[in-house]
Amino acid sequence: SRRVFLRAGYAYVPDTELITLIASAYRTSLSRALAHTSRALPQLEDDTRLFKMLQDFDRRYTGSDFSSKKATSTSITPDMLNTLSAKAFPLCMRKLHDTLVSVHHLKHGGRMQYGLFLKAAGLSLEDALAFWRLHFTKTMDHDKFDRQYAYNIRHNYGKEGKRTDYSPYSCIKIITGSVGPGDAHGCPFKLTDAPLLRQRLAAYGVTTAASSEIAELASKGHYQIACQKYYEATHNNTIIETGVNHPNQYFSESMKLMALGPNAPTPATKVELTSRRSVLQSSQSLNTSLLTPSLSSPLTPSSSSSSSSQTPIKSSLDNTTTTTTTQSQLTSTTDADFDEFDDLDMDFESLDASIEQHNAAAAAATVSTVIASTTTASVEMTSSAMASAAATTALASRGSATTASSATASLATA
Ligand code: SF4
Repeated sequence: SRRVFLRAGYAYVPDTELITLIASAYRTSLSRALAHTSRALPQLEDDTRLFKMLQDFDRRYTGSDFSSKKATSTSITPDMLNTLSAKAFPLCMRKLHDTLVSVHHLKHGGRMQYGLFLKAAGLSLEDALAFWRLHFTKTMDHDKFDRQYAYNIRHNYGKEGKRTDYSPYSCIKIITGSVGPGDAHGCPFKLTDAPLLRQRLAAYGVTTAASSEIAELASKGHYQIACQKYYEATHNNTIIETGVNHPNQYFSESMKLMALGPNAPTPATKVELTSRRSVLQSSQSLNTSLLTPSLSSPLTPSSSSSSSSQTPIKSSLDNTTTTTTTQSQLTSTTDADFDEFDDLDMDFESLDASIEQHNAAAAAATVSTVIASTTTASVEMTSSAMASAAATTALASRGSATTASSATASLATA
């Protein structure tokens, strides 16, 4: 099961295995930083400005800003939306568009999520009003639309109320937001049951293998990675280098790819995709396991994380589940090298045995020290008790029980 080539004291790690080492180094660094933060928290808690900011720090979106019009060079019109939703929208927005087209209505959460997305995607206020009006007035009259819904659309564009340029929702906001019965908003990878998700993806032309992989990622809570996989499946296996963090980022990546046409980059190989997804999965599970505690409960460094810094490379590699390396991948290696590899493999095992022996001896020495110090303490306690008993007997024989008791107490204290 050796996954690296050993020679002259060096382990040659294939690039497909580097993730294990990087993840381990990242985990150690994160663990140290968390321990450091944990110590600093009591002081930070006194500063209400900082504490408020830190409280939702792990849910903050720190990617590109899509709030301003200049953030996108794209301009879209209502007549393009049916095509774009099928080709360039992430699943959350595609679902909202499909719902709007079929029932001609969206609840408040859906209007906010989809409306702000369309604004950042380049839909003008006039076009937005025309688009929403077209659908809503299929089930209500124009007056009702103007009274109840037009204000909200103008508000989103900063033309009413506080006149704020509202930002479109990031993935974190959508994933962690609340969704009620009958709502169409939220992240479908989080909210859809695996069989229904597979069915919906199949209807969108995603292959059975890719649908199963996406549904499995989603069922494990890797919603953004599932979304990334959906992007790959619908964009000729092209990857988004930074992962999916924002629906508008997904959209602009898709638009860039469409603009490139035949000059689009070569699709990623299966090994590249597997390796990339391992990085995203590792970082997401680290974020889940280490960043989840709220700031109101003190953060403690994970003992398993800190010990991982001392984990030998070998055992670290043994724990990996993403192995794809085979002998054929070490193409530059000769047969002779492999013979040597086998010999060195045996050496490595004897080295492991010596390390284990050494650790066992060190543990035994620690136990002996503890026993020795415990024995000394017991002997001291016994001597003290004997002295106290002797004193009690001596004093009692003189007929002074009270004096005997206080003498015993002071001896016991001593
Ligand atoms: Fe939308 Fe983000 Fe969920 Fe993808 S991961 S469907 S972009 S919320």
